[in-house]
Amino acid sequence: MARKPLIAGNWKMNLNHLEAIALVQKIAFALPAKYFDKVDVAVLPPFTDLRSVQTLIEGDKLLLSYGAQDISVHTSGAYTGEISGPMLAKLGCTWVVVGHSERRRYHAEDDAAVLAKTTAALAVGLTPIVCIGEGLEVREAGDQVDYNLAQLRGSLAGLSADDVAKVVIAYEPVWAIGTGKVATPRDAQEVCSAIRAELAELANPQVAASVRVLYGGSVNAKNVGEIVAEPDVDGALVGGASLQGDEFAALSAIA
Ligand code: PEP
Repeated sequence: MARKPLIAGNWKMNLNHLEAIALVQKIAFALPAKYFDKVDVAVLPPFTDLRSVQTLIEGDKLLLSYGAQDISVHTSGAYTGEISGPMLAKLGCTWVVVGHSERRRYHAEDDAAVLAKTTAALAVGLTPIVCIGEGLEVREAGDQVDYNLAQLRGSLAGLSADDVAKVVIAYEPVWAIGTGKVATPRDAQEVCSAIRAELAELANPQVAASVRVLYGGSVNAKNVGEIVAEPDVDGALVGGASLQGDEFAALSAIA
């Protein structure tokens, strides 16, 4: 089954709601409608920008989609500071990032927490972008495949094949995030193809063939082409380069 590439821009904790509007306008202006037949392009702003982004995208009928960077495991109640799946769905989100390495590292989110967030997203019809990725020590020891597959299994444990079919996986080696050290296309393909083989075990071969597996880590307009040319890499999760409209549009146009 042909998989449509996805380029998703993770803005992290950057841009206020006015800057968010300007960035979405810049990306949309730079990307003619024909590109959206070939690639899905998404922005993932901070929670505080989502309403502005929704108003702009829906009001101007832009072809970009959008989503959030995190989700509560709870649906409502006394959870100060949390944002729930129903709230994100009501804001028209398509996507939500779960298990980003910054959440795993700074908020001690383990695979069980990632699984709970993945389940919370699926329960309200959001597509979770489930992030996994090894640190430098694991990579230097040559254990990256085993490490990523363990994270994958833990983050999707017990999901039905139908639910596995609804997720996007993002392979993001921690040593490549925000460092300018991008994985080689071969390194990205090695792990992404192993992820796909594992998805066949967790669900079935049809599901594995349909799930999008992204690469993330210092992707930019110059290096995206050779990375997404790999057979098991179906797009990119982009951090730093997603904050510059021209750069993000350019890398979205290449895919
Ligand atoms: C990310 O944080 O998901 C990411 C890939 O960041 P960067 O592109 O800046 O490495």
